[in-house]
Amino acid sequence: MVAAVFITAALTYCINHLHKPEDVPGIRVSFIDVGQGDAVLVQSGVCSMLIDCGEEECASDVIHTLKSRHIQHLDYVLGTHPHSDHMGAMEKILKAFEVGEVLVSPVPEELVPEDAFYLNMLETARKKGVPVTQVSAGQVFEIGSARAEVLAPVVPGDSLNNCSVCTLITLGEVSFLLTGDAETAEEQSMLDSGVLRGVSVYKAGHHGSKTSSGKDFLEAIHPAAVVISCGVGNSFAHPSDDTVRRFMRFTDNIYRTDLCGTITIESDGSIFAVRTERSIYDN
Ligand SMILES: [Zn+2]
Repeated sequence: MVAAVFITAALTYCINHLHKPEDVPGIRVSFIDVGQGDAVLVQSGVCSMLIDCGEEECASDVIHTLKSRHIQHLDYVLGTHPHSDHMGAMEKILKAFEVGEVLVSPVPEELVPEDAFYLNMLETARKKGVPVTQVSAGQVFEIGSARAEVLAPVVPGDSLNNCSVCTLITLGEVSFLLTGDAETAEEQSMLDSGVLRGVSVYKAGHHGSKTSSGKDFLEAIHPAAVVISCGVGNSFAHPSDDTVRRFMRFTDNIYRTDLCGTITIESDGSIFAVRTERSIYDN
């Protein structure tokens, strides 16, 4: 009997240990390679926020990445805007994990999509009892010891891209600016509202498109590093050469998921270190 109790206790310990989520010291931001799309996992302590998750066919890759980090629960899943390259996999994410809250962009009624990926995601959230909340500029979410502040949309967007939820994620002196597919108009609204300041890492808006990352915007955020999330040989020719040249006026630290695979950045709040799945020289 004693042996049985011991074995049961040992098994319980092993199972708990196996499923224990990582306790990330400081902050870790992973730009998951989902081809032409965005998927960004923010972890601090045992808390996590998934910002976008790529096309539906990327769901198994994203789920695998999260499970390899022993994640079973996501505190927040944020969809920057309802385009399939950002939210196509979200229904499957909601089915695969416990999710605390879904955060979505405030989209004007005439732009609300009727695509199956979006409607099915909302239906799955409803069935699982996961609250879906529209976020607005000024809201702040805690992710462990880090904070995510919503900077935009400040005004209703004129397109889904310009409805992108833009977040500034900060730990100590290190910050990450994620702008979804925000283009010039939404960048200008952030300039006008005076919320921009120098950032450590900027995830290039709209996959490095020429319609994003304008000169004035880049001067305001003065990024120390840039991450571009885009697919190999994508049909949009992202990133634009002109945009990459604009980045190079501020930094040579430019990382691309099409060249480097998943890009992981860790920080203690004072310095940050970048790790890539592949070396750029492997390509
Ligand atoms: Zn996109």
